[in-house]
Amino acid sequence: MAELLKTQTCPYCNDAVEDCHSIWDYEADEEVTCDSCGKVYVVKPQYKLEGWLIEKQCQQCGEWTDDGYKMCDCGEFSEKY
Ligand SMILES: [Zn+2]
Ligand SMILES: [Zn+2]
Repeated sequence: MAELLKTQTCPYCNDAVEDCHSIWDYEADEEVTCDSCGKVYVVKPQYKLEGWLIEKQCQQCGEWTDDGYKMCDCGEFSEKY
C-alpha cells in the first residue's frame, strides 16, 4: 500500500491543500484540480476503524450517555431523596 499523506498534497507540484478544503468523505474517489499547477489528481481518504462508541438513553431523563452499564445520575438522585 502506498504511503498515506497527512495532508491532501498535489502529486505534481507538492502544493498542500488546507484541511478545510480537503476531501474528507469516507470512500470518496474524487478528482481534484490543483489550484497551483492546474493538473488533476484523485483523492481517496483512507480511514481505519477504531471501534464503535455506543450511547444509550436514560429512560428517566432522556439523557444520552456513553458510560456503558453505569446508571445516569438522575436515577441515583431519585433513589436517595
Ligand atoms: Zn499542483
Ligand atoms: Zn437520567
